[in-house]
This record gives sequence, C-alpha cells and structure tokens, in this order.
Amino acid sequence: MKTYFLGSIMRRLSVLTLVCLGLSSGLAYTTERVVLVIIDGLRYSEGLGDVNHVMVPQMASLAEQGALVGNFQNDGYTYTSRAIPAIWCGAWTEINTFSDPYCNGTSNNTTELPTVFEYYRKQLSRPAEDCVYTLKELCSWKASLDPDYGMDYWPQYHEAGVTDTDVWNETQQIIASQSPRFLLMYLADVDSKGHSGVWDDYIDAISIADGIIGALWTTLQADTAYAGKTTMLITNDHGRHDYNFQGHGDDCAGCRHIQLLAIGPDIQSGLVSDTPRTIPDIAPTIGALLGFTIEDATGTAMLELLSSTAGTDKNDGRITPSSISLKHLYPSPFNAELSIEYELVDSPQASISIFNLQGTQVWTRDVSSGGEGLHTLKWNGKDQNQIELPSGVFIVQLSNQRFSQSQKAILLK
Ligand SMILES: [Zn+2]
Ligand SMILES: [Zn+2]
Repeated sequence: MKTYFLGSIMRRLSVLTLVCLGLSSGLAYTTERVVLVIIDGLRYSEGLGDVNHVMVPQMASLAEQGALVGNFQNDGYTYTSRAIPAIWCGAWTEINTFSDPYCNGTSNNTTELPTVFEYYRKQLSRPAEDCVYTLKELCSWKASLDPDYGMDYWPQYHEAGVTDTDVWNETQQIIASQSPRFLLMYLADVDSKGHSGVWDDYIDAISIADGIIGALWTTLQADTAYAGKTTMLITNDHGRHDYNFQGHGDDCAGCRHIQLLAIGPDIQSGLVSDTPRTIPDIAPTIGALLGFTIEDATGTAMLELLSSTAGTDKNDGRITPSSISLKHLYPSPFNAELSIEYELVDSPQASISIFNLQGTQVWTRDVSSGGEGLHTLKWNGKDQNQIELPSGVFIVQLSNQRFSQSQKAILLK
C-alpha cells in the first residue's frame, strides 16, 4: 500500500510537470482520434514480412501511405495473456488473477499497472462511450488495481459473436453510432486458426483480418468524424514459431518479430523506420498523439514515425496541402453511372479505386495520364470484369503515394 501511495504521488507530480511543460507538444498534433488494431498471433513472415504481401494486400497498401517499424519486437512474453497487457500498459506488467462474480465465478485478470484506457479517460476526462474496446465474446479482463485509476476509467467493452467478422460488424456500428475518439479492435481468429494446425484456415484468417483492416481505414476516411484526424496503429501481441506455425511462446525470431504499422495525418508516408522498437512503445505513442501521459511506461513514444511538420500545423495555423482532392460524387444515389469529380494539384500521379463495405477492391483506374487539373471520371457500377454489382454502399477512394481521400457512393438498382 505504501509503495502504491508513493507511486501515485510521484505520478501526479510528473503529470503536473508535463501539463505545465507540454501543452505545445502533446496537444499540437493533427490527430484527434486513435484506432488501435491487434491481430493476435500473426507471424511476420505471412504478414508484411512477406515481400510479395500475398496474404496482406490491404495492409501493404496502407504501409505505402503510412510508416512501418522495420524491427518491431515482442521483447517479453510471446503469448497473449502477458503481451496484450503490455500493449495496454506501455510496460510489461504483473498480472493478478481473481474469481470474477460477473463471469460466473471463473478466474479473471487485472493488470497491476494502469492501462492506456484508464490514463486516457482520467487525464482527459472522457466518458466510457468515448473509449471503446471491441472483441469477440469472452470473459473480459477488468481494470488495473491502481488506486488512482481502476474500473471508473475502464473502456466500454463491446463483445460481439465469435469471429473476426462479427467483431468488425460490431465495430462498424460503434463507429457510425458513437464515434469514439479512442477505439481498440481485437481480432483473435489468426491465432486460434494457427493453433488448429490447418494451414489453409490460418491463411484464410489472415486474409479476412487484412480485408477488415482495409475496410476499417476506408470507413474512417469516409466518416467526417474521423477523416483526416485519425491515426490507426496495427500490431500483434506475438508471432509464431519460425519452425512451426501451430505454436508460439518462446524466444525464436518468429515469435519475437511482429508488426507495427501506423497511418494518419501526423505519420510519415512510405517510411520504413530502422529504429528498433518494442511492444511497450505503443501506449506512449498513443498518449503523445492524443495528449495524455502513460505515467508508468517503460516504453517511449515513436516520434521518429511522425512527419517533420507534425505538431506544428495547429501552432502556426497552416494546413498541409494535399496534392489530390476528391471533390464531388454525383448523382447520389446513382443507378447507371456515377460521376467522380477530382482535382490533381501539383503531381499528376493518382489512382481511383472503389471498394465494397467488406473492403474488397471492386474496381480501380490509374488516372495519372489525365495530368494536373480538375477532372471527372465515370463509373458504370460494374466491377473490373464488367460484371454488374449489387445495390449497396461503395467507397470511392482517390489516392497517390502520400495522400488518400474517400467518399461514400450508393448504388441503387
Ligand atoms: Zn496463441
Ligand atoms: Zn517461437
């Protein structure tokens, strides 16, 4: 109790110091929202570590627009029950197990150190609905035992179904209905399919997770609450043995080497950072972007991923000009033909792609040959093979190597 008390005083002092010194740094980023995605147990060699990106085309495309840490490691326990708390806490934390009356008396866990949710909610005075955790149905962990934090600052849990697709469907509802500023989506299927030992099931789960992540980013960019002010981080808790994909948990390179991909308005585009980083660096990075402090972190914010102008835009009032601009889609809804009006400013290189809500690209066109200026491109509602698509919502995305903008279009037959 004594050490807790002393720790909490030290922490309060450090927060005060940071608040006094840090107003111009922590609060000055363009990022106002953070979405963190954890893909459980994706081995790097099937993810972005595969140079051909066979299983992860969506994440590969996001990596071109965002930043990747080339050497990102699980530097502690290479299994979920310890590694995910380390993501939350910005440190490898001890775990306490207790009998949970809310889970029919089965055993449940809490972290000894406060979590990123608790820091976020308490320091920024945010309500639970602004801090959401989506995951499949299981007996969820509870908040830390820290006397300054704890259950009053725990996120809103949304447990949905049993598959990653169920979790994604729930996440879409949350984004549309309550637009939380801090969202964590946990995808569990890659690990469980890996443990099954059926290679094709493992690979399928990776493809599904990759599609969900592509669709998530597209959804965020088509939502005015998120577009242009959201940073998304995609990581893993651990990899899998390099000698056997079915298991994990030791010190082999396959278990240790994981992914950290970041994309957002303050993040450099196309960067592969050579600064080695580890799991405890994730929470401090979120804290830096949103303006709160992970007081008990052992990790540090990955500021090397931020662009040189990050943190300055709000100070001097300048807005970083985008070299592309998606102007207008009409008519809405459309039936036979959609007109896509867009402008290329200082670089003619761009493409227009259309995605369905599952994140599958149904149509794409390189529009670089049109040159700079204002243009209109027509889309006939058919896929790349000229097959009619069903009625529904589609996401139109204009992108080049640095920027991407999206809007929704509704096809009504
Ligand atoms: Zn596992
Ligand atoms: Zn291993």
